[in-house]
Amino acid sequence: MTKTLVMKFGGTSVGSAKAIRQAAALIQKAKEEWDQVAVVISAMSGVTNLLLEGADTAAAGDSKRPVAIAAELKKKHNDAIFELIRSKEEQETVFERMTAHVDEFSMLTHAVNILGEASPRAMDVISSLGERINIHTLAAYLREENCMAEAVGSVDLIRTDSTFQNGKPDMDITRTQTAARLGPVFAAGSVPIISGFMGADENGAIVTLGRGGSDYAAAIIAAALDAEQLWIWTDVPGVMTADPRVVKAARTLRNVTFREVSELAHFGAKVLHPKTMRPIVGSKCELWIKDTFNPDGPATCIVNENTKTEDLQALRAVTAIKKQAMITVEGRGMLGVPGIAARTFGAVAAVDASVILISQASSEQSISFSVNAAEAEAVIKALNTEFVRELERRDIDSIKAQQDTVIVTVVGSRMQHTPGVAGQVFMALGNAGINVIAIAQGSSECSISLVVDAKDTDASVIAIHKLIEK
Ligand code: ADP
Ligand code: ASP
Ligand code: MG
Repeated sequence: MTKTLVMKFGGTSVGSAKAIRQAAALIQKAKEEWDQVAVVISAMSGVTNLLLEGADTAAAGDSKRPVAIAAELKKKHNDAIFELIRSKEEQETVFERMTAHVDEFSMLTHAVNILGEASPRAMDVISSLGERINIHTLAAYLREENCMAEAVGSVDLIRTDSTFQNGKPDMDITRTQTAARLGPVFAAGSVPIISGFMGADENGAIVTLGRGGSDYAAAIIAAALDAEQLWIWTDVPGVMTADPRVVKAARTLRNVTFREVSELAHFGAKVLHPKTMRPIVGSKCELWIKDTFNPDGPATCIVNENTKTEDLQALRAVTAIKKQAMITVEGRGMLGVPGIAARTFGAVAAVDASVILISQASSEQSISFSVNAAEAEAVIKALNTEFVRELERRDIDSIKAQQDTVIVTVVGSRMQHTPGVAGQVFMALGNAGINVIAIAQGSSECSISLVVDAKDTDASVIAIHKLIEK
């Protein structure tokens, strides 16, 4: 049977000529060991942010900043292309493609500037340019290194619906398209270098999968190819007990269950896109998170719930999700009025805001939940409209948003069988002098989330991590 490996390289892992060389070496090594290797890559690190900034500033009426960004984009890619590629012919082709894409950026941002707004569809065409450029650089460099490689746009593989900026894949069509497009590439002994982050809808319009969506794209392709394994190469040694940028003592978790990692990703651990697990959960595909810059060092394997892991700790990792607003609907008259909760969340859903967490209120006189801070205003407005009569009658006293909050989440699938962990967590925060605004337990009972003031974010994470270090 043909053994297929899908490898995904994140922004930092393909963010400079040096990193691209390292990624290419890892691809060549894998090609010697596997029958088929498919590679999914991100834009160079920082590029997607620049593209989005260009679109935003253009929409806000700034015509200069997008011009400066175009120059920066050209320079960044140019430096990598000329450092990596020696053959004049390859160099010219890649350079021309890159220039054409950056010119596309300039034209699009010019149009956005005139219109004074960027539709989600326009944002996707613009924000996906980084991946669309980068596949050509890596593929050309591999060819120079005598490794057959072909740049492939994921728009030819992944079919999505038309939800711009948050595309949902159609796996059946994706499977058929992927087999048709990649079959001949594999048959020729070549490695497809595929753009992450996006697919296309039935009209061929580019639809991105959300920020950080290259992980998700790679998992979709791994599922479509029935891959044996998916390796996500990033800039840290796998999934760690906390973000190593915040907690110096963070260490690699060798095994993490699907549930644990889903919960971590949902609550802000950037190391994996929250939807990455969806296409492959329940399949035979093994998922690994590895460090590009220390490939033989510590790494994480995502395992099934019933796999025996060597780490028996109840608390395994801690994460934080920033820029949250805590919304509270409160009133003594709410008690006994049926349907308040349903109407509350109905109103929230109607403005397309997603509820990150619902807190267990100590009484039935209030409902509290967290949404992204940017969505708070729209949510409050919707709730005021929904409950206009209850507010008049004083059944509901207030609908408030507390801005500048964060959600800190501690994860561990053994937590549900270990008494006293919640107590330990509160004690740790109490001892650090941190006030807990609200609490919630994850639906899968493998996490506890706490809402704290934004100023207490790092201190909370560090205090809880001390429990994990023990
Ligand atoms: P990539 O570009 O490779 O997709 P990301 O920047 O999206 O990389 O994700 C990797 C980053 O995730 C790390 O640099 C790290 O700062 C952050 N991170 C947050 N929480 C964790 C965690 N628990 N374990 C590892 N990394 C984490
Ligand atoms: N380049 C995209 C982003 O920065 C996708 C990714 O890197 O996963 O969001
Ligand atoms: Mg990422």
